[in-house]
Amino acid sequence: MDLYEYQAKYLFDEHGVPVVPGEVCTSAQLAEEIARKIGTTVVVKAQVKTGGRGKAGGVKLADGPAQAHEHAEAILGMDIKGHTVHKVLVTEAAEIAEEYYVSFLLDRANRAFLAMASVEGGVEIEEVAATNPEALAKIRVDALEGVDRAKADEIVAAARFPQDVADQVAEVLVTLWDVLVKEDATLVEVNPLIKTPDGRIIALDGKVTLDGNADYRHASHIDMVDEQASDPIELRAKELDLNYVKLDGEVGIIGNGAGLVMSTLDVVAYAGERHGDVRPANFLDIGGGASADVMANGLDIVLNDPSVKAVFVNVFGGITACDAVANGIVGALTMLAERGEAVTKPIVCRIDGNNAEEGRRILDEAEHEVIELVGTMDEAADRVAQLAARN
Ligand code: GDP
Ligand code: MN
Repeated sequence: MDLYEYQAKYLFDEHGVPVVPGEVCTSAQLAEEIARKIGTTVVVKAQVKTGGRGKAGGVKLADGPAQAHEHAEAILGMDIKGHTVHKVLVTEAAEIAEEYYVSFLLDRANRAFLAMASVEGGVEIEEVAATNPEALAKIRVDALEGVDRAKADEIVAAARFPQDVADQVAEVLVTLWDVLVKEDATLVEVNPLIKTPDGRIIALDGKVTLDGNADYRHASHIDMVDEQASDPIELRAKELDLNYVKLDGEVGIIGNGAGLVMSTLDVVAYAGERHGDVRPANFLDIGGGASADVMANGLDIVLNDPSVKAVFVNVFGGITACDAVANGIVGALTMLAERGEAVTKPIVCRIDGNNAEEGRRILDEAEHEVIELVGTMDEAADRVAQLAARN
């Protein structure tokens, strides 16, 4: 889960990374009041989960409460790269002498973390990496060794931070690493990390990505979920404990086993090219168990997606045999009908593996009008794409 800047800075502050105090709000009136309380020049900042807010006009200095009101009014409701601004952060404005860049991120390919640092911060770091790669230091961080003062000094030296800030930057790096470890983040980034004219180092912006797999260790992280910005179907799937990812096509996909579902997405995308370019609408792995309950929840989620025109249930029977899965599908349709959500979209089923014949017999006998049984995965993909294109 990506955090908003204000949430990232809240975590920074908790762990001792220097930030400027401020408050977040949802109206120009409140922005004005916060500015009045702060009493100095303030900066009004759009809170959206994307970078480049400054360039888009979403970060503005205000010399007092009236101007804070004016800027907040302009920024609230603004669209920044497809993200609507619902909140602004109002903070004391900092004076900037220099802008730097520092980050830690999970480096999966190298089974380690990566520290990146540059004295050319403030601009997009991808730009620095492309135009002036030697200005961006990259240092491997061993996951078990982490970042102690010696490691931080190594990063500071590699990025050639000026002598007068070296100590402070190293300290910030050690504390930022603390944020990453203690909050179970996969990314912490500060751009810009600034030096003020009087020589202080402050994190002026913050980006943090939390590792959802560690949510159970952090009761407080749930408060940072932003329901307004999340996909409502994904939220509901999460509540039901389903492995669901929303995609942007028309064919609903349900399968058992992540590998099978991934290859189902591929064959459907491929078949879709022959039928007006229809594409998978989601990833949904219902796992090994595939009971009627889980199947009902899965169908419920997928069928409630308005962009879904047809569904492909692709099951390979293993420990849970096909007859159990077939009973699950039939039971799920009955369950949905009882809930008053009778299914009308076509469902193409391909059932293979352990006890497949019995599974197919159960589906045949159910004679459900929306179910269509198809022999192979490729044929099923072609059929479901055809149905989705037609509907
Ligand atoms: P981003 O564009 O989404 O990365 O948003 P940032 O928070 O990084 O702000 C963009 C730029 O606005 C920064 O690089 C600064 O140059 C400027 N800025 C942000 N906050 C302040 C501030 O408190 N004082 C001053 N003088 N400039 C600021
Ligand atoms: Mn920034």
